[in-house]
Amino acid sequence: MELSQDLSVQDLTGLARVNRTPQGLLINSDFKASVRLECVRCLDSFQQPLRAIFDELYAFNERTATESALILPDDGYIDLQPLVREYLLIEIPINPLCNEDCMGLCMICGANRNKVTCNHEEPPEGKAT
Ligand SMILES: [Zn+2]
Ligand SMILES: [Zn+2]
Repeated sequence: MELSQDLSVQDLTGLARVNRTPQGLLINSDFKASVRLECVRCLDSFQQPLRAIFDELYAFNERTATESALILPDDGYIDLQPLVREYLLIEIPINPLCNEDCMGLCMICGANRNKVTCNHEEPPEGKAT
């Protein structure tokens, strides 16, 4: 799976609070969204909820900038979207699962075992319960 820059994040909601500090504007953000992913086990697509909670300082000038090096633009307008996107992308699992208990595909007939019972024997490793 490749995470392109065009990955579409759906249902983005959230809020950002702005606090003025001597160094700059401190943004407290809490955003939620969901993204369509493909389960690595059963290959079904599903909606994965994402949440991005972060504090970032937009400094008044370079001297007070934090590691993120965010500087308050001259026009004072902050576009949070790229930042929110970055934080949401971090939340996307590398090996997404539609469900922690996803049964995956049958090794023998390829059926989605979450949806159908094909009565094929499970591989021996799967029996250790
Ligand atoms: Zn699955
Ligand atoms: Zn089967």
